[in-house]
Amino acid sequence: MRDLPENSTTQAWQACIRDVPDFPKPGIIFKDIAPLVANGPAFSAVVSELAELVGPDIDAIVGIESRGFIFGAALAQKLGLGLVTVRKPGKLPAEVHSVEYELEYGMDRLEIHRDALSTGHKVVIVDDLLATGGTAAATVELINKLGAEVDACLFVIELSFLNGKNALNDIKVQSLMHVE
Ligand code: AMP
Repeated sequence: MRDLPENSTTQAWQACIRDVPDFPKPGIIFKDIAPLVANGPAFSAVVSELAELVGPDIDAIVGIESRGFIFGAALAQKLGLGLVTVRKPGKLPAEVHSVEYELEYGMDRLEIHRDALSTGHKVVIVDDLLATGGTAAATVELINKLGAEVDACLFVIELSFLNGKNALNDIKVQSLMHVE
């Protein structure tokens, strides 16, 4: 797909996000970014907007599995930076640090390679969507375990009504699109 939808505003890419009700369970409106990344101009516009939010002296982009990899990889490439991947349990082959975090029902875990970053490194975290903030907060904890610093967390979509920013305390949070 090469064309942005009609009704072109500066953020026409927002029209490429599909709401899927009751996925993965009743009551959740899933924000599906698949049509956005399948649309060349829309994907490119989003990555350019994210790139404008990245400050100076950043050592790496950190992408959260799995949709954070899509935007994180494109952003890192645009900025000439490397991508560090934070993954679900059992996916990373070398030595890892793990952090458990709370989901709406139960617990989950994220991992990072122990040699992915070190003291003095400054990174930007990228994911597709901020909901309760648990996933991003666990990612911050992993990065801090390595002695590195989080400069900012960037999201394409923020579900503002869930106040996920609160889970990230003093860390700068910037989102391209807010759902109130
Ligand atoms: P949270 O830890 O609650 O902030 O959840 C954020 C993670 O869950 C992100 O990696 C999102 O991809 C995913 N997620 C949570 N809620 C939604 C939603 N309504 N639509 C799409 N993805 C979601």
